[in-house]
Amino acid sequence: MTTGRFAPTPSGGLHLGNALCCLLAWLSARKQNGRFLMRVEDVDVPRCPRKAGEQALNDLRWLGFDWDEEALWQSERTGCYQSALDRLSAMNLTYPCFCTRAELHREAAPNLGERRFIYPGTCGSLKPAEIAVLSLARSPAIRLRVPDEEIAFEDGLQGSFSGNLRRDWGDLILRRSDGLFAYQLAVVVDDGASGVTEVVRGRDLLDSTPVQMCLQQILGLPSPAYIHIPLLLAPDGRRLAKRDHDLDLSALSRRCQPGALLGLLAYSAGLQDSPASTTLNSLLRDFSWDRVPRGDIRLPALP
Ligand SMILES: [Zn+2]
Repeated sequence: MTTGRFAPTPSGGLHLGNALCCLLAWLSARKQNGRFLMRVEDVDVPRCPRKAGEQALNDLRWLGFDWDEEALWQSERTGCYQSALDRLSAMNLTYPCFCTRAELHREAAPNLGERRFIYPGTCGSLKPAEIAVLSLARSPAIRLRVPDEEIAFEDGLQGSFSGNLRRDWGDLILRRSDGLFAYQLAVVVDDGASGVTEVVRGRDLLDSTPVQMCLQQILGLPSPAYIHIPLLLAPDGRRLAKRDHDLDLSALSRRCQPGALLGLLAYSAGLQDSPASTTLNSLLRDFSWDRVPRGDIRLPALP
């Protein structure tokens, strides 16, 4: 049976791009008579207040979405992330990293440009005595030794994609020096624990997928099917961001009907021929991934 999920990060209000992602994930799971789960990705607790998470769930209910179990909150699952980390450490795949952000940036600055910072493995060869001394001054982050191999998959919308963690990321942080668990570890542990078989999410997360597949393989978890959807752009072509309060779902819910917003999203995603008001049930009847474009989508002017 298909198990889909939507997993908002409540570091700000949900915007229409988040709503589109939930819509496609919900439609895809329900079209297959599958389960649909909700997970609040508040693993970065200081940046994700509980109230914002509850607001996100309320906004999604207002749009008409339902889910099959009580929503999972990552902030309540640190014990599970710690046991996964313990397992990785028992396999000798982790090491403490004492680098500060300032040190890493100084080292990387000349060749960083627009690209992601790739950790050069500085702390990977520290000796136990050196670790003992460094630990007196600073609590370390914990990193995963990543393999130098190509991890490939077939995305449901974007086609073939592959990545090499050593080349594209370097050894990954699993737990930060402040004790917070990394997003990548939390997602893999949660998808595994919930039996998620289908992940629908924004195209901006495409290159995180080999990272998560690598962790799934090491932890002995099956990989779900992945469908990376186009990003929704504002009517003027800029990327939607949490700071765009005009496109914030809570703000829109005060001046629009849910059906009008669903109609607008469905029209943007190719699911219907006009932005006319609609319902989830009526979209479900005609839903097919064949109608959804691969490339980014520009919103029409808002009602
Ligand atoms: Zn380091």
